[in-house]
Amino acid sequence: MPHTLLLAEPRGFCAGVVRAIDVLDSVLDREPPPVYAFHEIVHNRHVVDGFRARGAIFVDDVTEVPEGSRIVFSAHGVSPAVVDEAKRRRLRIIDATCPLVTRVHLETRKAVNDGYDVLLVGHRGHDETAGTLGQAPDRMRIVEDADEVARIDPIERPVFVVTQTTLSMDDTASAIDGIREIYPDAEVRNDICYATTNRQLAVRTIAERVDLLLVVGSANSSNSVRLREVAEAAGVTAYRIDGIDEIDPAWYEGVDIVGLTAGASVPDELLDPIIEDLKARGVTSIEPIVVAEETVEFRLPDELEV
Ligand code: SF4
Repeated sequence: MPHTLLLAEPRGFCAGVVRAIDVLDSVLDREPPPVYAFHEIVHNRHVVDGFRARGAIFVDDVTEVPEGSRIVFSAHGVSPAVVDEAKRRRLRIIDATCPLVTRVHLETRKAVNDGYDVLLVGHRGHDETAGTLGQAPDRMRIVEDADEVARIDPIERPVFVVTQTTLSMDDTASAIDGIREIYPDAEVRNDICYATTNRQLAVRTIAERVDLLLVVGSANSSNSVRLREVAEAAGVTAYRIDGIDEIDPAWYEGVDIVGLTAGASVPDELLDPIIEDLKARGVTSIEPIVVAEETVEFRLPDELEV
């Protein structure tokens, strides 16, 4: 049974998630339900269920939203086609897209205007990549890894590379190497965000000491899934869980030191019962492992600042 717990820092909420949650929270405080949100506001089951209980309705298609309703766009961003459809339906839009995702949208559109075709390194079907691909659907392609780069039709125009913000640092570096082998002159922007980077660095550091790592985060949370993979790549047994209910106590057998972290959309309160349970099982030493101080904050959209 474990005697020591290492807590990754930073872990949990990033600035983009805090902003998106504050946006929806503030809209629900000001307006009668229902308030619609395009896509889950952040990829965390507990957060989304909490908003549902307050009258938020999450949709994956804006045509499901009654004309004239309030709609909040999630932290993951949307394509211009979604914005256009929302305007056609006279929806009252508040955009909670993380500013770091908006930056990828802007650099993508600028690159296309400057004559590039764009390769997006990311996971197909994720809300964020859907929004980014929608910035210039005729001039973009998505690749998940280096092998896929070699398989796509050759690109005739100059190549510009952007990435999803929540990818594994190592896998992305290898995808970019693969792109550079075929397109040596490619202009590359690695858009993995500060929060993803710091959480992965903390896991790598912790992985040197722990026998087991627990990652709190939902299955559809890209950055949470990546944290488990980073630990596994470092040779540590790791499980991703939504909360304490999913822990199998048998995981602790033969474990001296356990590590705990959480994805960028996870409230810290979900970790408290796990820590208390570990103390009850005999953990006597709890050590924070700090790899970075985060001071990033994003202001709310203008409509909500007053
Ligand atoms: Fe923004 Fe990064 Fe947080 Fe995504 S993980 S919301 S890109 S800060």
